[in-house]
Parts: sequence; structure tokens; C-alpha cells
Amino acid sequence: MARILVAGGSLGGLFVANMLLRDGHDVRVLEKVKGSMNGRGAGIVSHDALVNALELLDLDVQSTLGVLVPGRVLLDGSGNASQKLEMPQVLTSWSRLYQILLDSFPTDRYLQGVAVQRVEQDESEVRVFALKENVELTFEADLLIASDGIRSSIRQQVFPNTQPNYAGYIAWRGVCEESLLSDFTLNSLFDYFGFCVPADEQIIGYPVAGPNNDTRRGQRAYNFVWYRPMPYGDQLGNILTDADGNHYPQGIPPNKVSWRQIAKAREDARHLLSPQFAEILEKTAQPFLQPIYDLASDQVVSGRIAIMGDAAFVARPHIGMGVTKAAEDAAAISDSIRLHGASSQALLAYSDQRLRAGQLAIQRARWLGDYIKSADSSSQAISHRQHLMVSETAIDLGRYGHLSTFKEIQLSL
Ligand SMILES: Cc1cc2nc3c(=O)[nH]c(=O)nc-3n(C[C@H](O)[C@H](O)[C@H](O)COP(=O)(O)OP(=O)(O)OC[C@H]3O[C@@H](n4cnc5c(N)ncnc54)[C@H](O)[C@@H]3O)c2cc1C
Repeated sequence: MARILVAGGSLGGLFVANMLLRDGHDVRVLEKVKGSMNGRGAGIVSHDALVNALELLDLDVQSTLGVLVPGRVLLDGSGNASQKLEMPQVLTSWSRLYQILLDSFPTDRYLQGVAVQRVEQDESEVRVFALKENVELTFEADLLIASDGIRSSIRQQVFPNTQPNYAGYIAWRGVCEESLLSDFTLNSLFDYFGFCVPADEQIIGYPVAGPNNDTRRGQRAYNFVWYRPMPYGDQLGNILTDADGNHYPQGIPPNKVSWRQIAKAREDARHLLSPQFAEILEKTAQPFLQPIYDLASDQVVSGRIAIMGDAAFVARPHIGMGVTKAAEDAAAISDSIRLHGASSQALLAYSDQRLRAGQLAIQRARWLGDYIKSADSSSQAISHRQHLMVSETAIDLGRYGHLSTFKEIQLSL
């Protein structure tokens, strides 16, 4: 039994912590947020690999994971369906997955309010220095798994040259209650994975469980992600500034997004989006926004420390793979430790398995995202672009890989 610390107690951290605990290790999670994290996150596209990772933990949740859609619909500016595709997929949510993973992990091993500050390691162990309510704590372990997200303090110490790069656009996100929507929107969009693609923009949406993970008709919600180009500079600075003038360069908390920016987004939605999506924007209580970044690592292991999940790679959300990728990282780490013991050799085996997968995810997501910024505005190019977005966004590459034109790109790498 090895002593293993996991920094970060979101989905990636909980996946790996549960897997290592299942294998009999002495695992502790250090999570800087104190109190419930349940309000965080929105919709998550599920893939077979995500369900497989849950099954590895004996969590049979397939029937309660989320909402099943029969396929996809592309809406034009007037709200008519210009393309339909049969593509069943289950859409879940951050809070549903968090609840499942947290419930299966012992409370006394999930240490909240503990913010990792720095790490040290030698040949025999790794030491983690953290702060809890201004008191410095030290933890010792055989291995440290850093799943502390895109701004990972551990990655910044161990691999300081690996930094997120702004992709040139933002995403407005939100979740609208089903019960608020008109019959028109319910009948023409709600049950589908929906798309609307005005010039240089893209909105996607899908139904998710409502409050208390309720998936009954009438109780669900519609999750949307609206991508909008935004050059780095004043415009981006303004949108990341709250109504009192406080600036959040690393991302504005959902409850701080300025009401003026929300009003402007709703106004733009009325002109640019299909009426169904405009209605959803209008009726979403608290739309929030995130700048879109790429984060690509060329190393994920240093001695007894491994980085995983969003700390290692952040692919743009078009591939809908963030959580699945974190779950696959977790499975690779636990497999490697089972095979090689809790050693730096095990972490190198993890790196061999997952480094390339992370790099490919980044490239596929960039390729999908580049369509938003494409300069070719001929009607042929637009229609090609729209078709690709509908058939390639957030697909299960295992199940729908035959649709993927990205195969050619993968082969040429
Ligand atoms: C617009 C958008 C849409 C998305 N859609 C999807 C989708 O459809 N499907 C999908 O699978 N993914 C999606 N994602 C990505 C997904 O949210 C993440 O990839 C996923 O949560 C895995 O991240 P993680 O657990 O590695 O890191 P995170 O979720 O970022 O968690 C990091 C954790 O570490 C903690 N932490 C940070 N610093 C410290 C510290 N110093 N000490 C201790 N703890 C610390 C944080 O509080 C946090 O809990 C989307 C993302 C965006 C932006």
C-alpha cells in the first residue's frame, strides 16, 4: 500500500483518487475550495470511455447518468431545421458526475480548504506544502498526482514553460429551465443536440437533468455554449470586468459577470441566433462566460509527480472530452501503478500512454474551433463548415469515428 496524494478534488482528482483507493492505496485528496462545489459546471457530453471509467469503479450509473438525445439538429436564423442527424448520445452534467464520484470516496480522505503552495521531492518521497486557513501544512507521500486544473500551481512549479494560450474567442454558457420555454422551442429544439451557426459564431446546446438531477420531462434544463470571437485586448478585458469595475484576467466567476454584458449578449442573440436559442439566452437566469484556451504539455511527469486532466492538457470544448480525458488519465495512472508499483517508473508508463492522446485531443479541438475564425465566407464554404460542425462536434470517437474527417489528420501526424 502506497501513500498517494491527489491535488485537486474536481472530476479528474476524484476519478484517480477513487481508482487508487480501490487498489488499496492510502489516498488523500487536497482541495482548495472549502464547502460545497455542487453549483459549479454545466453540461457534459458523455462518451463510452467515460461510462467505462465509471464501471471500473463499479459505479453502474448508465441508466441515471443523464438525458438521452436521439440526434442532432441544425437550426437556421429563422429557426427552421436545415439538417438532422440520427446520433444518440447521453448528456450528463458536472454536478451529477461530481456527486457520483464524491459519494463513493471517504469524506475523511477528502480534505477541503487545503491549497497546495509548493512541492519538493527526492528519491524516496514527495513533500507537499499547503495552506489551510493561513496555517501551513506539510504532507508526505510516495507519489503526488496533480489534478489541479488549467492554472495548476504544481505544473507552474515543475514545468513553468507550459502555459495556457488564449484561442481568440470566448464561450457564453448557461442552463435554462425547461419549464420556462415556449412550446415552439420545446418541440423544435429541446430534445436534440442543437446547433446554430451564424457567420464566425457557433452555439450548441443539449438537454440536461434539472435541479436534483431530475431527468423527468418538464423538470430538465437546456445547456448551451455560445462561441464568439473576441480579440485579446480591451474587449476581452471589458467582458472579464464586473459591474463594479473589478477585473478578473484569469476568468470571471459566474456570479460576477456584468449585467450590461449579459444584456448585450441577449440583444446580439436576438439578431444573430435562431429564435429558439435567443429565447434560451433570454430566459437563462445567470449566463456566464469563459475565455477559451489551449494548454498543451510536452511533459506530464517529473520524478514522483504526475500531472493529469486539465492541469496537463486543455483542449477546446468542441470535442467535449475534458472529463472523459481526465477519466482516461486516471485509469492509465492506476493501471501503471498496479503494474510497476507506486514508483516514478509507473508514472513514466502513464506518460507514455497519455502524452500523445492529450496532444491529439488538442489538435482535433483546434481543428474544430478554427472553423469559427475561418475567413472563407462563400456559401459553399459556410455550408461545408456547418455540416462538419454538426457531425464532428463532441462525438464519441469510438462509436462515431467513421464520421471523423480528423482521421486523415491523425494519420498524417
Ligand atoms: C465551455 C466549456 C465546455 C466544456 N464542456 C465539456 C464537455 O461537454 N464535456 C467534457 O468532458 N468536458 C467539458 N469541459 C471541460 C471540463 O470542465 C474539465 O475538463 C474537467 O472538469 C476535468 O478537469 P480537472 O478535474 O482536471 O480540473 P478542474 O475541473 O479544473 O479541477 C481542478 C481542481 O483543483 C482545485 N485546485 C486548484 N488549485 C489548487 C491548489 N493549489 N490546491 C488544491 N486544489 C486546487 C480546484 O479548486 C478544482 O477543484 C468544458 C469546459 C468548458 C470551458
